[in-house]
Amino acid sequence: MIVSRFAPSPTGRLHLGHAFSAIRAHDFARERGGRFLLRIEDIDGTRSRPEHVETILHDLEWLGLSWDGKVVFQSQRLPRYEAALERLKAAGLLYPCFCTRADIAASTSAPHGPEGAIYPGTCRGLDAPDLSRPHCWRLDMAKALNWVAGPLAFEDSGRGVILADPASHGDVVLARKDAPASYHLAVTIDDAAQDITDIVRGEDLFAATHVHRLLQHLLGLPVPRYHHHALLTGADGQRLAKRHGAPTLAALREDGSDGPALADALRKGELPIGFAAAKA
Ligand code: GLU
Repeated sequence: MIVSRFAPSPTGRLHLGHAFSAIRAHDFARERGGRFLLRIEDIDGTRSRPEHVETILHDLEWLGLSWDGKVVFQSQRLPRYEAALERLKAAGLLYPCFCTRADIAASTSAPHGPEGAIYPGTCRGLDAPDLSRPHCWRLDMAKALNWVAGPLAFEDSGRGVILADPASHGDVVLARKDAPASYHLAVTIDDAAQDITDIVRGEDLFAATHVHRLLQHLLGLPVPRYHHHALLTGADGQRLAKRHGAPTLAALREDGSDGPALADALRKGELPIGFAAAKA
């Protein structure tokens, strides 16, 4: 049974790019007689808002998308993330890091990886870390890679079999200072816990998949198939995001737009005036 999911973060309103992604994930499962699940990624307590959750549910219903089973909220699953963190700590693969973003930015040795500055390792190997100070937990990438005996591969429908290169991300954060788990950890655990067979999501998350593949290996989790779709772009070729003035789905809905008609247009790669689809 094919199982896909849409996993928005309720930190703002959804725009057309989210609708495109939700439709792709939804249709992928529905066309194959599978299940489509909805998971709200709300572990970021400072930015997630309940009112955005309500709006997201309305938006998806308005587009004519239906999901199976109950909506899952990551904020209600923290013990699972803690248990995984404890396992990784016990294996000696995590270390506490006290650096601020400014510390990292100021480090002249910080090279850049697929998702910005690679952590320069300042807190790796501290003798007696003072855990009463605010800290996050980072994966010691070099140690983690010692746990990998053979090639780490995943299947990407657009590219074929990919050899994961998590090392290029450096020592990624698995538990944040201000949140009990990072996106990388929570998404990997939940995709496995929800038996997701096919992850349909934007091309912007392709780089993150390399980290997720390593976490699957370290935590003994199954490896789903990946389908990274092209992102919608504005007429100027820029990625669609609110800063480019993309209307939110809520605004379109409140303006009286026809949700299912919009969803069908997006399926055909047609967009409201002023938007162009990236190549499929
Ligand atoms: N919650 C993530 C986001 O809204 C997406 C997670 C995923 O699809 O892997 O960007």
